[in-house]
Amino acid sequence: MRTLYANGWIVTMDDAGTEHPYGWVLIDGAVFVAVGAGEEPDEHNRGYHRIDCLGAVITPGLVNTHHHLYQTLTRARAQEADLFTWLRELYPLWARIDAEAEYAAARTGLAELALSGCSTVFDHHYVFPRGRRGIVEAEVQAARELGVRLVASRGSMDLGVSDGGLPPDALVEDLDSVLAETERLHGALHETSPGARIQIAVAPCSPFSVTRRLMEESAVLARRLGLQLHTHLAETVEEEAYCRELYGCSPVEYLDELGWLADDVWCAHCVHLSRDEVGRFGETGTGVAHCPTSNLRLGAGVAPVRALEEAGARVGLGVDGSASNERGDLFAEVKQALLVARGYDGSGAMTVRQALRLATRGGAAVLRRDDLGSLEAGKQADLAIWPTDGLELGGAVDLVAGLVLSGPHRVDRLVVGGEDVVRAGALVKAEESEIARAHRVQAARFVA
Ligand SMILES: [Zn+2]
Repeated sequence: MRTLYANGWIVTMDDAGTEHPYGWVLIDGAVFVAVGAGEEPDEHNRGYHRIDCLGAVITPGLVNTHHHLYQTLTRARAQEADLFTWLRELYPLWARIDAEAEYAAARTGLAELALSGCSTVFDHHYVFPRGRRGIVEAEVQAARELGVRLVASRGSMDLGVSDGGLPPDALVEDLDSVLAETERLHGALHETSPGARIQIAVAPCSPFSVTRRLMEESAVLARRLGLQLHTHLAETVEEEAYCRELYGCSPVEYLDELGWLADDVWCAHCVHLSRDEVGRFGETGTGVAHCPTSNLRLGAGVAPVRALEEAGARVGLGVDGSASNERGDLFAEVKQALLVARGYDGSGAMTVRQALRLATRGGAAVLRRDDLGSLEAGKQADLAIWPTDGLELGGAVDLVAGLVLSGPHRVDRLVVGGEDVVRAGALVKAEESEIARAHRVQAARFVA
């Protein structure tokens, strides 16, 4: 099954940043076999199905490196709150989560992301009310049905309010059951082969909701199983003050002490970093999920993304949960990352291509997926096709710049591992209106 996507502006995102303004991409089954410009592969020997992309921009499928799919159920709450106030208001509602609600939320969040060109999604789930089973399995089912790749996590919280943590005691778990559940999910779901569609990460929630011991034991378990580690870090000034009081150091110093700055770790946010801490991220190869809209929504600040990249850290983009970024659109984050970098550091702070690279190669590097993130022979055939004949691109000569600067957009076609997930701007394997309807039924259970 070979398919040629012809007559497109190909943005390969290879190391050299190669683009072909009049190019084509050839896939065979689930992988790319060739990418080129000008004349298409031999007409007589072609044996492929040809799709004319009519001058569309073709990019790698986008990679989302931080999310909480369940939060679609509690949007637009705590509207003026900072992080800690927002969390305290939402925890009691989140305690109502179960597999049925998670399934509806995941379908909504994953569908939104797919329609924004996103082919691979990391989800940080850390709310596991005691006795409720099947929450991670529910989001895996949603991802399989829609056709996107999912890195799910067995997150955790074990430091309740009576022990000096932030979450209510009813929402924290005991350490042994967290670790046992994580190991069970690894055995049941984690794929290791190139082209893996479902993977598991180990993701205790944050320094203010997890004990030191669980952070340490999570790292031991993840390294024994060969899984990656993830957590929230240095999101707000309140978190910094909290860590100084509880641990006598900054959040980054605390993680460093725990052996959590390493190339098998990535952290969400990383807004409040000293220059030395930026350097430590680079030296250790630690990854960062930059979530600009969420950081602005909660008034948290702006992560020093260019400095992190220059130091050698891996950086990708995340929409973060829909309770702090009500739009689950990763292409919108590409534009937001560009604007916020320039607002912070001037017009030369980030180019359009650097912003787009964060959401493709950057995200793939953060998830340590060298089979994703670029249009190159041998890699997984994940690609997003962006129409260029709409009103907003009229007058643009550089269509890639026009696309990013006028974003967000609904993708015309999203291909994951050679299979259509979105075609003509609509989901192929599910009905958008039905997903929204089922989600409304579940969301009604999350009203205060
Ligand atoms: Zn988050």
